Amino acid sequence: MQKPDTITRFAPSPNGRLHLGHAYSALYAAEKAAELGGRFLLRIEDIDVGRCRPEFVEGIYEDLEWLGLTWEIPVRQQSEHFPDYEAALKQLRDMDVVYPCFATRREIEQTIADNGIDAERWPRDPDGALLYPGIYKDISPKEGSRLMWEGRTYAWRLDTEKAMRLAIKKSGGAITFTELQGSPSGKTGAQPIKPELFGDVVIARKDVPTSYHLSVVVDDALQNITHITRGRDLYSATYIHRLLQVLLDLPEPRYCHHRLIEDEAGRRLSKSAKDMGLKDLREAGKTPADIRQMIRI
Ligand code: GLU
Repeated sequence: MQKPDTITRFAPSPNGRLHLGHAYSALYAAEKAAELGGRFLLRIEDIDVGRCRPEFVEGIYEDLEWLGLTWEIPVRQQSEHFPDYEAALKQLRDMDVVYPCFATRREIEQTIADNGIDAERWPRDPDGALLYPGIYKDISPKEGSRLMWEGRTYAWRLDTEKAMRLAIKKSGGAITFTELQGSPSGKTGAQPIKPELFGDVVIARKDVPTSYHLSVVVDDALQNITHITRGRDLYSATYIHRLLQVLLDLPEPRYCHHRLIEDEAGRRLSKSAKDMGLKDLREAGKTPADIRQMIRI
């Protein structure tokens, strides 16, 4: 069988302008593809229709073009593919590894308080969200349908423990992923997954029938991505992604989690870090070569 070409991707969310951190990530992905004689794709991750805006999509094209990058056309834009993610959600529902959760944030906080535990001491997932305390997990399918019928808002949560049991059975052993660049602890090679750190993570919502985790694994498979290059801040998310890949019978890509670009105070850049925005830097007279120098790529 012919070895698939190397394919990398840069997958920004158009909810703000790109900054130096994005420049590093985009150039890293493009250079990894070039180094391995492969292809580089751009993907627009705009499932959050409330926060994503067309002018930011234009801004992404403008900034990347200015940096000198080229990518294949057409660009996959996630908001145009909700049926693909719904189909994957349906597969998870058929496996009975997701359940509808009707809890509001307030209800979650209240349940934690009712347990006599200070929210400060309640465990949080790697993204900083409170671990879900399991309310609504055991309601009957009939009760679930009744609440949906009433028009209540809900999210589909992964029953992570059950999903893990099924995935281990399917894969016939421990589930790992291959890290090429270096985990936060600097290790490369096969890494164990620890999806339990996220608890019963949200996989889709009533109004948006997907989530970052679900759409990213569906798209990476559909686009035959072989090397997932992205910032180290998304390292732990890979635990959920590998679990979903096994459950959904999707191929296993390799991972390169790269270093993050920080501001002078050593803080990670955010979309509000205006002075680090590519548009602002361009308007202040910086060249693409200056940008490369600033991010040391
Ligand atoms: N869309 C994500 C972001 O902008 C990146 C997704 C990924 O590379 O897996 O943070």
